[in-house]
Amino acid sequence: MSTIDSIPLVRWSGVEGRPLVLAGPCSAESEAQMLECARRLNGVRVDYLRAGIWKARTRPASFEGIGDPALPWLVQAGRAFKMKTATEVATPAHVETALHHGVDLLWIGARTTVNPFSVQQLADALRGVTVPVLVKNPTSPDLGLWTGALERINHAGVRALGVIHRGFGVASSRRFRNPPMWELAIEFRRLHPDIPMVTDPSHITGRRELIQDICQQALDLGVDGLMVEVHPNPDQAWSDAAQQVTPERLGEILHHLKVRSETSADAGFLASLEALRERIDRIDHDLIDVLANRMRVVEEIADCKRENNVSTLQVSRWTALLEDRVARAEQLGLSPEYARAVYEIIHRESVRRQSEIMSEEPSRQVPG
Ligand code: PEP
Ligand code: MN
Repeated sequence: MSTIDSIPLVRWSGVEGRPLVLAGPCSAESEAQMLECARRLNGVRVDYLRAGIWKARTRPASFEGIGDPALPWLVQAGRAFKMKTATEVATPAHVETALHHGVDLLWIGARTTVNPFSVQQLADALRGVTVPVLVKNPTSPDLGLWTGALERINHAGVRALGVIHRGFGVASSRRFRNPPMWELAIEFRRLHPDIPMVTDPSHITGRRELIQDICQQALDLGVDGLMVEVHPNPDQAWSDAAQQVTPERLGEILHHLKVRSETSADAGFLASLEALRERIDRIDHDLIDVLANRMRVVEEIADCKRENNVSTLQVSRWTALLEDRVARAEQLGLSPEYARAVYEIIHRESVRRQSEIMSEEPSRQVPG
């Protein structure tokens, strides 16, 4: 059961039946940039104009945001083109000035979510505030920290809540700046089904050409919205240039997205789905039986090794096994990455179980 008491997305955003869209530059750079961005977003259905005012940068020599003077640029550009506005807050002073200028939604950045002290200070500053607050996932793949941040904000009385999935900054990846690790986003939604989730494809990919694809994947997983970095002249952006798209490009991306509903009332569809799900259920039960049988053999191997005082792991055997299984899986149309990942888990558990058995009795001393 979720420990968070929130109100539905439609109540604080008015959006239902389509994705919520937050878009705008990584950073507010000038009044003219904000106005041009908002003007060119005019034909695109954007609910919140976003801009970074204070930028938490990894290295101090990077552009750290204009700060307070940029707040009126964001708010006025939003008002001029009938968009609500959103910005990132990282300190109580940011909360105070952003609200003072009339920003409509605040989000907590990935580098802040990792620190419970900072989050608690923000929560204290947000006590009694009614604007929605979205919490980005922490840079590390830690669902506890993500949930904890949300709980701190919620316990301060904020109920218009959501989360932003922006990928995780740990696993090395050539394709992504912050690999999405979808399984964590899915697990978060399983634990907190009532908390709206927005995906940020810009910080996930770091590359504008991958944004369309990530937006579609996110919608196919049932997320509630998208936050996309948009700049009137992306290549000239002062921060995150490679991942920003023009307002017109955002329009195309949104236009091409297929918004699929979570289910359909069509009786034929429901019957086919039901039959297919029964097949999957049977296969999964067989799969678990097979895994259990495999483990019984692993245990016999462990007994055999222990009796003969042989070590748990023979690297050459593991290498050969992995190659064989991956090749076989590939012949049957499975991806090698998938087969490898499955076998790494199977093998890890086999080694763990074997070590457990081996330590049950002291191994015999090597004679001599
Ligand atoms: C941002 O949205 O501009 C940003 C800094 O994102 P993150 O906190 O995800 O790095
Ligand atoms: Mn950015």
